[in-house]
Amino acid sequence: MLRLPGLIDVHVHLREPGATHKEDFASGTAAALAGGVTMVGVMPNTHPAFIDQETFLLGRKLARLGARCDYALYLGAGPDNAEKLAEIGSQAMGLKMYLNDTFTTLRMDDVTLWKKHFEHWPRHLPLVAHAEGRTTAAVLFLARIINRPIHICHVARREEIEVIRMAKESGMQVTCEVAPHHLFLTAKDLEVIGQGRGQVKPPLCTEDDQKALWDNMDIIDCFATDHGKAAVNQSSL
Ligand SMILES: [Zn+2]
Repeated sequence: MLRLPGLIDVHVHLREPGATHKEDFASGTAAALAGGVTMVGVMPNTHPAFIDQETFLLGRKLARLGARCDYALYLGAGPDNAEKLAEIGSQAMGLKMYLNDTFTTLRMDDVTLWKKHFEHWPRHLPLVAHAEGRTTAAVLFLARIINRPIHICHVARREEIEVIRMAKESGMQVTCEVAPHHLFLTAKDLEVIGQGRGQVKPPLCTEDDQKALWDNMDIIDCFATDHGKAAVNQSSL
């Protein structure tokens, strides 16, 4: 028997408040414990999103009432909250920046907005980015010239993992996570699991992308599930 300590999943979506017909703190953390995970890092793209003191306190209150395992909440970077977040930053898991089109209202596709958050968010606190494809290279470039550490979420493609390897080898303070579904599934598997059920962001990619993740296993810092119930499952809940 292989005994492991309680695992930490740094990237989950628990949908509370706003979409508790999909998931809530109680059900999501029950699932975590069933899988051996004793702490979760909860993403901020809820409704309302965790973007200021008020919404963050609401999230913490709901978590305190519902969660069955340890947790910490992320704050979400938005177009106009960079100055406000630093003062509550130390209470959060980190700052999440959505730099591509995804399931959120928090998207920021203007580099001047990224820069504001890079400058205001305390340097010693985690800053994590959803940055797919060439956006990975763009955000690493900005992190390099501003000289601050950064974590790249759910790396899924060859071009992402290879540019992260280059950044690490050049001495940059960058870490990254990979999700199990990108290691074990590709777009080919959609035929079997169905387009709806297989819809994730980043999407399931090619076999070449999958191979690149395995080939670069030595530079992957952690695994994270990106757990979140898809809308397609609503009818079964
Ligand atoms: Zn996510």
